[in-house]
Amino acid sequence: MKKIVYIWLLIFGALAGPARAQSRAVAFTGVNVIPMDKERVLRDQTVLIKNGLIAEIGPKVRIPKDALRIDGRGKYLIPGLMDMHVHMLSDDADYPKSIAADELRVMVANGVTSVRFMIGTPEQLVLREKSARQEIVAPTIYAASPHLTGREQGNDFVVNTPDEAREAVRKSKAAGYDFIKITTFIKAEVYEAAVDEAAKIGIRVVGHADSRFVGLERALKARQQIEHLDGYLEAILADDAPMKGSVSDLYIYNPKNWESIDYVDERKIAKIARATVEANPFVDPTQHFMKYTFGLPRSEESIRAQPDFKFYPKKNQDFYIDYLKKTPLNKVPLEKRARWVEIKNKLIKAIYDAGGKIMTGSDTPEFLWLYGFTEHREMKALAEAGLSNYAVLEAATRNPSLYLGTLDKVGTIEKGRRADLVLLDANPLDDITNTQKRAGVMLKGIYYPQAELDRWLDEIAPRLHNALGETE
Ligand SMILES: [Zn+2]
Repeated sequence: MKKIVYIWLLIFGALAGPARAQSRAVAFTGVNVIPMDKERVLRDQTVLIKNGLIAEIGPKVRIPKDALRIDGRGKYLIPGLMDMHVHMLSDDADYPKSIAADELRVMVANGVTSVRFMIGTPEQLVLREKSARQEIVAPTIYAASPHLTGREQGNDFVVNTPDEAREAVRKSKAAGYDFIKITTFIKAEVYEAAVDEAAKIGIRVVGHADSRFVGLERALKARQQIEHLDGYLEAILADDAPMKGSVSDLYIYNPKNWESIDYVDERKIAKIARATVEANPFVDPTQHFMKYTFGLPRSEESIRAQPDFKFYPKKNQDFYIDYLKKTPLNKVPLEKRARWVEIKNKLIKAIYDAGGKIMTGSDTPEFLWLYGFTEHREMKALAEAGLSNYAVLEAATRNPSLYLGTLDKVGTIEKGRRADLVLLDANPLDDITNTQKRAGVMLKGIYYPQAELDRWLDEIAPRLHNALGETE
């Protein structure tokens, strides 16, 4: 009996979910394809999509009579974008969980077709399943565990002994999370236990590398996938620097720590880049977030002019605008902050040059940077760090797929791959910001013209803005 109910729910889900039947073939005609298998453009192609997969690509492909034809002349087709560091407003207890479906649509409307949530919640696991079954219009979801931390911070496992760490790792794996997320204040022996347990039961460790407790050397030894370039500033301080600490992670907020910027020894960058690639070549610097939240200051005017500003509840808008006026970072000389950005850029470029696989991560939606929109800002920030436009596209498509172990399914445009695609009006290899000139997004074979996606955004903005039920 139970089984029958389940099947009916599935059928209902299929009807109530994505607006269009999937059985109809779709053909992009006359389109320039950037397949991302290597740096090249295939001109004037037909790309035929059937049952959510890329069925054929070529200059001459027979198109079924009833197929939906999309005129791709003068346009560019790239794989769907993958954001490897995302959170949601609805992760926060203040927000209703019901806004999650809108949040996920904002990502899709910006061409993001896969995401990795970096602080897990049980709700994300439910959304992951709903997305996989196409009951909701959402990117393919990966979810790291609630974060392992030494101090209570919410959505966490507070771990202060090796046993607590091992238990948190086992519980996370049993609950179905895809990764173990580590953040801050974890003692070295507790970290070692978490990493050891994770290796034993077969789940990867991702996240911060707290420079005061864990340190980059230990995190690299553990082959952890490191976010935000945590611990790198400390690792490249001159041997005779009068301090050991620098401005990774939460230590960024103490203006005193910024004195260390003057003691960076740039000659150490190449060596640490090589060590990174040997340990774990996958690096997600979340560079836009770091650069424009802590590095270069933002004016209130520029914040209010952001297209994603209106999606935030007023309380949230006011909080961050006020915070950015009062942040202790304002006591840090602007030259030091700019120098920090420059050093981070050099680290990214050096890791890339050493063979590293850079991945895009927006680290949204804190500080009024919204997911979806900020994926494109991250791509621009990586280009500004010195990566070629092709390397940036790799960071947003094939590198995350390679990391997730799904490159045979998605992340390139090849026959048999999942049809997660973005159609652009201009060539992103000429200018990476052309990823923002979208004609449409295809999610698992279903095509949404950008005009429709823009309508979603127009409808969703006031809903998210009012999500806290404030009266203005
Ligand atoms: Zn984060």
